[in-house]
Amino acid sequence: MTDCGCEKARRDLEEYLRHEVCKTSQTDIAEHLENCASCQDEALVSRTLTEVVARACKETAPEELRDQVMERLRAVQATH
Ligand SMILES: [Zn+2]
Repeated sequence: MTDCGCEKARRDLEEYLRHEVCKTSQTDIAEHLENCASCQDEALVSRTLTEVVARACKETAPEELRDQVMERLRAVQATH
């Protein structure tokens, strides 16, 4: 009897969606997702969430990031 691999697939799912897993795992997970409907659902939800968060970050990041950098610079200058 072979393990369906759900546990491994779900554990690595986030890394897989961010393309941070090694190539072997990538193939393993892709194959598993093809054959496992419940993990496919899980992947779809995770992917959608990741995209929404990424989009939200992209839209709000520049100004917030600039403020953070300025603040950091000011703090560094204050200590020198
Ligand atoms: Zn599965």
